Amino acid sequence: MSTKKITLPTHFIDLHLHLDGAITLDIAKALAKLQNQTLPSSSDAELSKLLSIPPDCEDLNEYLRRFDLPISLLQTKESISEAFYLVQEKLIAQNVIYAELRFAPQSFMQRGLSQRKVIEAALDGLSRSHLSSSIILCCMRGLEREKANLETVQLAKEYLTTHDGITALDLAGAEGLFATSDYRELFSLASKLDVPFTLHAGEAAGADSVRCAIEMGARRIGHGVRAFEDDALLSLLKGNQIPLELCPTSNRQTKVVSDMKTYPLSDFVKRELAVTLNTDNPAISSTTIANEFAYAQSLGITLAQEEKMLLTAVDAAFTDKATKDKLKQLLCKSNSIE
Ligand SMILES: [Zn+2]
Repeated sequence: MSTKKITLPTHFIDLHLHLDGAITLDIAKALAKLQNQTLPSSSDAELSKLLSIPPDCEDLNEYLRRFDLPISLLQTKESISEAFYLVQEKLIAQNVIYAELRFAPQSFMQRGLSQRKVIEAALDGLSRSHLSSSIILCCMRGLEREKANLETVQLAKEYLTTHDGITALDLAGAEGLFATSDYRELFSLASKLDVPFTLHAGEAAGADSVRCAIEMGARRIGHGVRAFEDDALLSLLKGNQIPLELCPTSNRQTKVVSDMKTYPLSDFVKRELAVTLNTDNPAISSTTIANEFAYAQSLGITLAQEEKMLLTAVDAAFTDKATKDKLKQLLCKSNSIE
């Protein structure tokens, strides 16, 4: 990254952040202590290696292995609640004014919790922080996930109706192995139940996956980077202003594009697509939302373009109008946005 002095927005929004990818060394230690769990090493350096990838690592499998320790620490009500609380406190300290934290309840059932209990614990942690935030429940790609995914969709509907906090669904997991189109039925149910959703698409798979997600009714696209492969799709994204949740550092580390010089962020902005910047897995990637905005500037994005992206993020957020109005006011006051 350039060493030239840069000016960043003063406040941030993060719409694409996985809870289990946000477990930093200090949070991991706090969670282990809370539940008397022994960590695999007593050395900070060794633990850091298990929680985050080195800057020069660009291997997807190595990246995915970094979820193992966080997930093992998130198997009790107390630790799930505490993790939601601590991650939000970290975001507040990083000048984040609104965040959507996503996670798959079915990943946290190894020690006997039900999806409902996992969600209750998450909501408890969410409410303990003053950060304006909400939760996206992830369904998972993979074998034998039908029953658990169906339950996630049904619980999303129930909690959306009865509680503040759960606001949408997502589809996460190995896009390269399990096609987005395999989940048409599941998300047609979500549509029928009026549960909004974003879908990971166009990350490990190509433009067809993004097109399929749009056909399935996705309100936003998680990543969507590989839409650059298809001009007609880019027109569709522009015409319908479907927000893309771009996560440049994560995309660089998992080699979504072979060379970041060809990363389509500037191109998407020039084409007037609805672009937002996010962290994805800040602990695993050793990044923060401010780093992502700094990185975007190194890829040719201006401060004014970034301020516009933040307003796009507000419009794209799965939250109510009153919250959006408040966020816009905050952004316009602190940044140079008119
Ligand atoms: Zn993601």
